Amino acid sequence: MKIRVLTLFPSMFGALGESIIGRAIKNGLIDFEAVDIREYSIDKHHKCDDTPYGGGAGMVMTAQPIYDCINAVDPNHEYLRIFMSPSGERFVDATARELATHDNLLILCGHYEGVDKRVIDLCIDREISVGDYVLSGGEIAAMAVVDAAARFVDGVLGCFDSHEDESFSDGLLEYPQYTRPPEFMGLKVPEVLLGGNHKEIAKFRRECSLKLTRERRGDLLREDKDGN
Ligand code: SAH
Repeated sequence: MKIRVLTLFPSMFGALGESIIGRAIKNGLIDFEAVDIREYSIDKHHKCDDTPYGGGAGMVMTAQPIYDCINAVDPNHEYLRIFMSPSGERFVDATARELATHDNLLILCGHYEGVDKRVIDLCIDREISVGDYVLSGGEIAAMAVVDAAARFVDGVLGCFDSHEDESFSDGLLEYPQYTRPPEFMGLKVPEVLLGGNHKEIAKFRRECSLKLTRERRGDLLREDKDGN
């Protein structure tokens, strides 16, 4: 899977070089690059923002550098072009799975007050939000999208099955996990997990998942019932 993130702050994406996603990039399973929009600005000072028409606080990212950057990275529109935006569709587990089926993803990160609407209208296929709050820029949101989608690319997780058990995969939150020692600060690991009876363990975990989901995220169970 090829991912190009377009940003004014490419060094922020150094975080993706660590851990599971870092390994997938090193192995070539994910071909990742953060492209610096500023390099495409035709302004002599490489300016990429300006004051908003109509007034108001802050700066807006100008259309030209973004437009030229997108067309340089994706001249034939072979990428699914995403803009990270608080006004976009809500990013959920199903979105991550769906994005992982695309061979090429281009993700545009806004910053400051946002991006000139015309470049969104001209170039973008889809707008995605990571939640109902405002971040300073799309970079952290894009990292969440890249990380969550990459986990569904074959071979990225050490064991292919390991996301099937996780929160949301079956519409439920994950059961609690324990590791050694069997007792810590007086708290014991539930007996059934030490016994090695896999059927009993599966039953126990399923009950824990249901209980936790009912307590914390009743909305997930209701969505389940409605077949969503
Ligand atoms: N003025 C805008 C917010 C701009 S925040 C508004 O009120 O909607 C600057 C940039 O951060 C945005 O262009 C977007 O790319 C990114 N961003 C902020 N919050 C986000 C969120 N919840 N999801 C995805 N991207 C977000």
